[in-house]
Amino acid sequence: MHDLTIERLTKRYGQVVAVDGIDLAVRHGEFLSLLGPSGCGKTTVLRMVAGLVEPDAGRIALGARDITRTPVHRRNVGLVFQSYALFPHLSVFENIAYGLRRRGGLAEAEIRRKVDRYLALVRLDGVADRSPRQLSGGQQQRVALARALVTEPAVLLLDEPLSNLDALLREEMRVELKRLQETLQITTIFVTHDQAEALALSDRVAVMCRGRLEQLDTPEAIYHRPASRFVATFLGRSALFEGTVTGREAGQLVVRLADGLEVRAAARGGVEPGDRVDLVLRQEAVRLVPAPTPGAANSVPATVVFVAFAGATSQYVVRLASGTEITVEAPSSRGAPALARGASVHAEWAADDLIVLPAAGRA
Ligand code: ADP
Ligand code: MG
Repeated sequence: MHDLTIERLTKRYGQVVAVDGIDLAVRHGEFLSLLGPSGCGKTTVLRMVAGLVEPDAGRIALGARDITRTPVHRRNVGLVFQSYALFPHLSVFENIAYGLRRRGGLAEAEIRRKVDRYLALVRLDGVADRSPRQLSGGQQQRVALARALVTEPAVLLLDEPLSNLDALLREEMRVELKRLQETLQITTIFVTHDQAEALALSDRVAVMCRGRLEQLDTPEAIYHRPASRFVATFLGRSALFEGTVTGREAGQLVVRLADGLEVRAAARGGVEPGDRVDLVLRQEAVRLVPAPTPGAANSVPATVVFVAFAGATSQYVVRLASGTEITVEAPSSRGAPALARGASVHAEWAADDLIVLPAAGRA
């Protein structure tokens, strides 16, 4: 059985359809991300699940229990927001104990045992008596996490919980959050606009666009087999080409691009010669080599026109013989870019690396 089921969930604000008939089932113990650009409706979905926003239509169930109209404090969900929202006048201990005290019925010793357990789980032993103001942002967010977990909710709801942290801390907390979730096996919905976060943390990613679900799948499938142009371009850095399928050779599609270049892509069900298609090519899928590799599916003469060193990798803008420029990301060599501006190369990629999508606007 699914822990959490959402059916045809809809919310309007005046003319804006913030959430437009979303269906979603989250499995027990699953870490599911809602990923999409700002304003696509992620927070509104989460707040409806929490009971903070009332849906216009649709249904939410926890296990077999319909909670669509259940008040927030009786839903058995834990919530963490981007802003830590701790009580500034209470100690760390009392912040975490708050939900337990409010619920009532627990002896003081039991409260202390539970708070201590979750303080240890978020690696904050020793700060129980401090005020939240004395803690760093990362520590405050861990207190917020412990506060959400201490009541042992059925579902943990996280709304961009790492967004206020600086880049390095954010990556550390990402790993910590994932390990904690795996330890506790708690069903989790994680809202983010950060694709790297969603890919790194999730069992499945639900990509949203304008209040709708674009694709729901594993991180690998979302990245390598995007279902739409929106998903393909929102995740990862890539070049996008428009073209027409001109033929089929040895199980591959031959596609003529708008700039006249002919490329080979892996066959895809439902795509036939004569069809207009969009092609997505990831920056890291392209190799730049000095001479064409015999038998390469795609090998295009090119010139390096710009080089940007980025540490472990470098980015190259190359102009293909057809005149089109693409950006390629490749490992640096001995701590420096492997190629200089002006170098003559061949840009090569496998047929499998071209993601074929039906042309946008053609249904
Ligand atoms: P996200 O979390 O993906 O950035 P939101 O769920 O916050 O998106 O918002 C989705 C859409 O609904 C946006 O267009 C936003 O402006 C609108 N919206 C959200 N909350 C309200 C509100 N309380 N009143 C009016 N419009 C809102
Ligand atoms: Mg939001």
